[in-house]
Order: sequence, then C-alpha cells, then structure tokens
Amino acid sequence: MGTTIYTDGDADLRAVDGRRIAVLGYGNQGRAQALNLRDSGAGGERGTVIVGNRDDDYLSRAHEDGFPTSSLREAAAVGDVVLLLIPDEVQPAVFAEQVAPGLRAGDTLVVASGYNVAFGLLEVPDGVDVVMVAPRMIGAAVRSRFVQGAGFPCFVSVERDATGAARRTALAIARGIGGTRAGAIASSAREEAALDLFSEQAIWPAILSVLRTSYEVLHKAGFSDEAVLYEMYLSGEPAEVFTHVARDGLLGQLPLHSQTSQYGQLRALCGLDASDLAARFTSILHEDILSGAFAREWSAADAGQRLAQLRQRADAHPLSAAEQAVLRNQTRNQTRP
Ligand code: NDP
Repeated sequence: MGTTIYTDGDADLRAVDGRRIAVLGYGNQGRAQALNLRDSGAGGERGTVIVGNRDDDYLSRAHEDGFPTSSLREAAAVGDVVLLLIPDEVQPAVFAEQVAPGLRAGDTLVVASGYNVAFGLLEVPDGVDVVMVAPRMIGAAVRSRFVQGAGFPCFVSVERDATGAARRTALAIARGIGGTRAGAIASSAREEAALDLFSEQAIWPAILSVLRTSYEVLHKAGFSDEAVLYEMYLSGEPAEVFTHVARDGLLGQLPLHSQTSQYGQLRALCGLDASDLAARFTSILHEDILSGAFAREWSAADAGQRLAQLRQRADAHPLSAAEQAVLRNQTRNQTRP
C-alpha cells in the first residue's frame, strides 16, 4: 500500500562504475552475491569485486572461483563499496576491529540484514553511506535464481546518506545481485529487523507451540506417534500447502482442500478468540523487539550459553523423543532391502 517497489529500470549499475566492491564473508550470501555482482559487471571495467575472509576453506573457495582475495581488514580498506556478509552476531566485534578502521568518507557500507544497524551496534565512521540490500532468499537460491534469469524479493533502504548518492549505490548493488528483477521493496533497517524478529519470536514459536500442544493432546488420547506426526508434518503436506499459500493466498488456496476440510477449517477459525495472542504478540513487538531489549540480551556475553540451555530445555519435550523414534524407524524401513 503505497510502498515503493524498485525494478531494474530504477537501478543503474553505472552508479558503482570504477568503484571497488569488497564482499566481506564468503558464506551463504557472500558467495552468491559476489558471483552475481561479478557476472552483472558491477564496478565496470575499472572496478573489481574482491573477497575478504579469514584464511580458511571459504577463502580458498573464493580464490578458486577466481576472485582477488585478502583478509577482511585489507578488503575493507581497499573497497569503496563494502558488503558486510558475515553472521549478524559476530558483526559488531568484527566490524569495530577489522572493518571500520578501513572505511573512508565517501565509501558505502552495505548490510544484508537490518539488525545491527537498527539496534545501533555498528559504529560507522562519519562520511560513510550506510545502505541495506537484504534478499528475502537463502544464498543458494540468490545464486541459482540469478543464473536462471529469475528474481527474488529483496528489501532496500538508505540508512545514512553522507554522499547524496546512497540510494543510487544501493539500487546498483541490488540490481547487481539480481534483487531488482522481481522488484525490491523500499524498507528500512528497523522495519526489516523488526519483521524478521517478529516472525522468529512470535509467529514461529506460536506454530511450534500449536504442534507441540497438538501432540500432547493426541498422544494422551491414545493416537500413535507415527500417525500423529505424519498427519502434522512428517508427510510434507504442510510444505505443499504453504507453497500454494505463497501463490494463491491464505484463503485462496482453500479450494485445494475437500469441502469437509474447508468447512472444518473455517468453522474453527471463525470461532477462535485470538485476543490473548494479539496481546502477547503486541507485547513481543514493542517490549522485546522495538525497545531493543532482545538485541541487548542477545549481545550479552552469556548469550551463547543461554541458547544452549534453551535448546536443551526445548528438546526435553516428549515430542522430540517421539520424533526421533519415528524418524529412526522411517530410515530403517527405507534402507531395508
Ligand atoms: P554465513 O553464516 O554463511 O557466513 C559465513 C561467512 O562469515 C564465512 O565467510 C565466515 O568466514 C564468516 N565468518 C563467520 N564468523 C566470522 C568471524 N567471527 N569473523 C570473521 N568472519 C566470520 O552468513 P550468511 O551468508 O547466512 O549471512 C550473512 C548476512 O546475510 C547476515 O547479515 C544475514 O542476516 C544476511 N542474510 C542471510 C540470509 C540467508 O539466507 N542466509 C538471507 C538474507 C540475509 P570463516 O570462513 O572465517 O568462518
């Protein structure tokens, strides 16, 4: 509704002509974006796409793919447009120690996720543009879709425009990675980060909790673990349904189900009181996410330890054991001659 969607026609690759593009990190997004940018000719004849990484297998892979390679620190210093494509949780420390010292006024910092910018965790030197080009797509598909000539959704924003050219640069990079083919949505780091975190902290836990509670109820009623788990998700049917949801909409895909199913789903949906959920989701959005409380908690020194504890706690639910047993059985049956 009124949101700007940028397409190839709005994005001019010449905006980064002659500028060295440094891709920091050669993981999921790093490799895909570096290859796409090079294949797009980003940087023009005088520009180059270079890769910075720690000296390990990722760096060797970049070298084998034909990129000039160096340490993160060197690549950041040499690059005019610097793409920060290392995991979000390590960005603040790595950026402060190895990237920020190499940035000069006129350079552009490009992030692929709004998190660290939105929560003020990167101290970007004065005079440096900060933009976000955030594919809504896993790295492998950023590459495969580009090669097929297809697009993928992407969020784009300008977070700091020190040079007056930040938008043109952001759009050139978006175009170079293939992000304007299907339309790049004008957004902001705050919006991108908040939506991502909301999906992770409200939507998915609610779905997981619904499945766990369903298991508890059905198991208690005497239904077999195999039957329950295949009905809920092991069949892969929910994945099929969501493919249709993405194409036809939440209710638009309903005609694919039987009349009995449609009547049952709609009867239950219309009778459901979601006000408790709305209150909980509102609290998660404002008190945990937008306030920065979650970001502060996740930046704390003991965050990794807490993650391990939570994993252990979640795994103690009876559904985990049931799932493992059913999956083991399934593997055994599949390998049986
Ligand atoms: P990866 O986990 O694939 O990144 C791995 C890369 O980061 C490797 O090059 C690795 O180098 C480097 N790295 C990891 N830890 C460190 C460290 N401590 N110091 C230096 N380098 C390190 O990341 P993604 O590609 O998944 O994510 C990159 C960015 O893209 C993030 O901001 C993410 O939010 C965003 N994004 C990711 C998407 C996805 O689907 N994955 C989708 C859209 C955006 P080394 O060889 O040294 O370990």
